[in-house]
Amino acid sequence: MNQRKSGEKQIIRDVLIKPAGPDCNLACSYCFYLEKGAMFRESTIHRMTDNVLEALIRQAMGAAGEQVSFGWQGGEPTLMGVDFFQKVVDLQMRHGREQTVGNGLQTNGILIDQIWAGFLAHYQFLVGLSLDGPKHIHDQYRCTRGGSATWQKVFDAGKRLMDAGVATNALTVVNDYSSQFPDEIYEFHKSNGFVHMQFIPCVEIDPVNPKMAASFSVTSESFGAFLCRLFDLWLNDFKNEEPTTFIRFFDSLFYTYVGLTPPDCGLTKTCGNYVVVEHNGDVFSCDFFVEPECKLGNVLQDNIADLLNSDRQIRFGNIKTELPDACKSCPWLSKCYGGCPKDRIRDPQDDGLNHFCTAYKMFFKHADPHYRRMAKVWKQKNALSRAEETRQQIEQSGIKVMRNALCPCGSGEKFKKCCGSTLMAT
Ligand code: SF4
Ligand code: SF4
Repeated sequence: MNQRKSGEKQIIRDVLIKPAGPDCNLACSYCFYLEKGAMFRESTIHRMTDNVLEALIRQAMGAAGEQVSFGWQGGEPTLMGVDFFQKVVDLQMRHGREQTVGNGLQTNGILIDQIWAGFLAHYQFLVGLSLDGPKHIHDQYRCTRGGSATWQKVFDAGKRLMDAGVATNALTVVNDYSSQFPDEIYEFHKSNGFVHMQFIPCVEIDPVNPKMAASFSVTSESFGAFLCRLFDLWLNDFKNEEPTTFIRFFDSLFYTYVGLTPPDCGLTKTCGNYVVVEHNGDVFSCDFFVEPECKLGNVLQDNIADLLNSDRQIRFGNIKTELPDACKSCPWLSKCYGGCPKDRIRDPQDDGLNHFCTAYKMFFKHADPHYRRMAKVWKQKNALSRAEETRQQIEQSGIKVMRNALCPCGSGEKFKKCCGSTLMAT
């Protein structure tokens, strides 16, 4: 399997930032990030300083090409307040060199009022709102520290955002409970205007018995059935061969059918294409590996582009290519490349194989004929020769050449205009 080589340079395209560290105003049962507080014991409240913010924006914009995406996550990034994000935008304008800047904010919605909604709309932030579906599904695990329900507040925040004209994605965790309700969740999101959806399968180690997965984790079989049903619902809503709802995993997978690099890192050959910056400036390899062993440096002492291209980050990225034997001979290898490495280690009972391997096999088998047909239609629309030319160009020089092609996600938008931001799970 192709590995990234030492010295192979990439430019900064995506930076994921945790301005309030792991701090959050909720305590969802399945959150993997709250426990990171143990890594930053110097204080109980974690907030990014102006120095760190300026260093990271100056460096990222200086090292980026024509486009750069900043993903603001946590914990809960809105704990920083609107003023902090006004500083973000001001610094981006000050340090930009006629670049296109995308800002994505991932939020639990609790603090989103009219002021927030107006700000996010004005500066065209793409918002990922953590909303697991209707009340009985969302409130199963997404609760306050005191155990109170949160659905009503989050749902109201979603309405507020959409009324203000903010592009809002629904981020939905698929767990042992929600996996039973694909129809209900999909219809709920669609009927409430959340036509952009992202589904994140949940698997975490059991905190009491580390030899097994936590009880809220979704089994591979359940997730496979969920994906297959969701796919049918999505396909059923196509009009004139175009999707009317947008599901990140389905859209990403489509890229692989037309010879393009998918935006979802779980589907790429190697990892390591972005970095995470914590509130204190520490830089890590990936959102799921904010761990001492994966610390690359700190923006106050190091340069973020050097850290992205460091041997340490390249070694991290290549871990994905160390596949179990089952993957090496798998007919679907070119679709999932063994999946996200964190899903290979969360449940010790998986013995190094991806926890969702069975789900992927079920889904790829189910969806493959449809993807082949859709790819044929897309290639005809975009002209095969141009797609091939573009693929070669993209391998050589990044995304900027794609201006004239339609985005493979089927939105009808120009490439990268609609899928340009990185939103991931917390
Ligand atoms: S489907 Fe399973 S066996 Fe095949 S490449 Fe993916 S994780 Fe490996
Ligand atoms: S470990 Fe998983 S989330 Fe992190 S970069 Fe790799 S595929 Fe993406």
